[in-house]
Amino acid sequence: MRALVTGASRGIGRETAKLLAGGGAELALHHFRHREAAEQLAAELTSKGKPAFALSADLASPPSIDRMAEALAERWDRLDVLVQNAGSYPRGSIFELTDAQVDATLATNLLGPIRLVRRLLPLLKDARAGRIILVSSVLAYTGSVHGAPYATAKAGLLGFARSLARELAPRITVNVVAPGATDTAILAGDTPELRKRREAQIPLGRVATPTEVAEAIAFLASPRAGYITGTTLHVNGGIYFG
Ligand code: NAD
Repeated sequence: MRALVTGASRGIGRETAKLLAGGGAELALHHFRHREAAEQLAAELTSKGKPAFALSADLASPPSIDRMAEALAERWDRLDVLVQNAGSYPRGSIFELTDAQVDATLATNLLGPIRLVRRLLPLLKDARAGRIILVSSVLAYTGSVHGAPYATAKAGLLGFARSLARELAPRITVNVVAPGATDTAILAGDTPELRKRREAQIPLGRVATPTEVAEAIAFLASPRAGYITGTTLHVNGGIYFG
């Protein structure tokens, strides 16, 4: 099985890549600004007999996405699993964000992922039990008081996934994982007080570990999820039931 994980240098993407490699996948590890971390992970996996390589793209840049798709096609003639996990969450009130910030958030979290999937469809069409998993967010469902463009982009992914699930059936399943607050760089700005308040709102009483979200992604990528398509798996400690 050949899998591309975007945003694989750290956080949820990194844990997903490790789980997929553990399940026997060959890995293409996409990174944006953390080349060294992605290359280190590729070397680590390869040394354990799990072939992996790193490649880069800025999801906000269409030519950069095209170059990555071409680079992947030069190495592989087939892609079985695409985990579109990369994303960024710039915070700001809708009254204060600039037009450029709004556009950049939609480019990175919605238009970039759509372009990436479209560019990779020629490789996915020969997939063995093809899988596309898009990482959205609980904020797609609940909205966000300080991230409307991000929540909008993540909600857009739901419509994209449902549409693709219909159009790509029966060869490729398409699903969404919607994490709640997860202990990665995205929450690095939390003060101890904010973290306490955040956790008090979550029925399970804590934020997720990146591995807990990765487990859901790995499940949807596995043969065990062969009859699941067009749906969202919520991994949020009960803060939203879906
Ligand atoms: P993270 O910041 O550790 O990882 C995000 C990854 O996306 C990084 O590898 C980063 O390099 C990449 N990225 C950011 N901007 C990019 C760009 N312009 N082009 C290409 N790659 C880019 O955070 P994470 O929590 O592991 O995030 C993974 C996914 O989970 C994201 O889509 C995020 O929106 C989503 N998510 C996270 C949380 C959370 O609380 N951590 C909650 C809900 C959803």
